[in-house]
Amino acid sequence: MKFEPRIRGQVDTGARSTGRINATRSRDTRRVLLINSSIAASRFLGEAIQKQCERQVEALSTLAQVRSHLDRTQEEFLAAVVGLELSDASGVEIVEFALGKGLPTIVLTGSWREETRRTFCRYSLFDYFVKGKLEIDGVCRALNRIPLNSSTKVLVVDDSAAARELQSSLLRAHRFQVFLAADGAEALQVLAEHPDTTLVITDYEMPTMDGITLAMRIRESHGADEIAIVGVSAQGASTTAVRFLKHGASDFLAKPFEKEEFYCRIYNCINTIENARAIRKAAFTDSLTGLANRLAFFTQAPAKFAESQARGESMAMAMVDIDFFKKVNDSYGHAAGDEVLRCVATLMAEYLGKAGLVARFGGEEFCVFCPGLDRDETWEIFDKLRVAVAATPVFHDGQTIRVTLSIGVTLAPRDSLDETINHADQLLYEAKNSGRNRVVISPRALGSGVNLIMDQLIPD
Ligand SMILES: [Mg+2]
Repeated sequence: MKFEPRIRGQVDTGARSTGRINATRSRDTRRVLLINSSIAASRFLGEAIQKQCERQVEALSTLAQVRSHLDRTQEEFLAAVVGLELSDASGVEIVEFALGKGLPTIVLTGSWREETRRTFCRYSLFDYFVKGKLEIDGVCRALNRIPLNSSTKVLVVDDSAAARELQSSLLRAHRFQVFLAADGAEALQVLAEHPDTTLVITDYEMPTMDGITLAMRIRESHGADEIAIVGVSAQGASTTAVRFLKHGASDFLAKPFEKEEFYCRIYNCINTIENARAIRKAAFTDSLTGLANRLAFFTQAPAKFAESQARGESMAMAMVDIDFFKKVNDSYGHAAGDEVLRCVATLMAEYLGKAGLVARFGGEEFCVFCPGLDRDETWEIFDKLRVAVAATPVFHDGQTIRVTLSIGVTLAPRDSLDETINHADQLLYEAKNSGRNRVVISPRALGSGVNLIMDQLIPD
């Protein structure tokens, strides 16, 4: 099994669900280098790129200008979009120059000629477009893929080193994270290590485990909307294709193939998976705070609860509520209330996100399930959260708003998830009734039956 180093950036692992991390992720502001002889056409395309890709463009019209610009600046561009008809360079020269600078390169050509296509198919271009109606949307779509691809994992499975190299070079030209395996068994190992893989491209005939068996094995644990599989084979293409498709493959590609067909098929597959992920994410995310929503909680928590019970480990279930939240809405307006909810959710993700499942149940009420957390740890993180919320003013529309939390936490799980949540809810009411801005944990010590109430002084 070989791992091909990624082109850039770090893998984004699960942190996506918290509003805070989203908010602080640095924005990719790399500009697009647009090299085209027609200033009017560049302006038109540049405006479309600004609008559809939200990126700035450096438009230059000769190779000499490009050289002098790049000599003067250390700027790292996202990509180069190049026209082939420059006054001071041939199409091949400008393409080789852009690729030589390590830039994903998109070519604009004035007309469709097979000879031109053959010439440029020899280069690792990102894509090419024939100038016309479809060109602008195509260029913008291609530019928008570049940063997405650097966090998209693709696994190539083939026993032929040459075939692996060919496909991985096509994928690397598009900045994908590429993983390689020489047979089905190796591929399953890679997938176990990288379950967030989007696409598997697999050959049919391989030692140890063939591609169709691999497709079946992948489908035992990953649905067709979770990982796409493209079967590849030169063997009796029609029946092999049918067998692949009937055993879980999303698509099939007969060897040898043209680059354009390869990219078209893999992008169709990747788009399907990304759309399904986006729908799932929207369904399971609280749109205001970015936390998990009630549906996500009750989809994930039952299995975690059962596993934790089976292991006989300690666990904490908490209900968290913002004190006097209605007053915030009444005094400052609903926009201020929303800002308070976002701020509290950010702190909850920061203090509790690593420990367990944090969900907004509705209104100003949150539920937190932390399997494997012991009494001391529970004590520490929930009271730290309480103190942090009380000490963090929320600024909205020139006003400063302060809120506190009441928290009920049970460390004594009941027989079912629902009963355990109900117990945490009773403890939350105890926190409310005994003065708010406090954590009530039950039991204080195993067997003591005494609830512990914490309301240390809040730093000013
Ligand atoms: Mg083979």
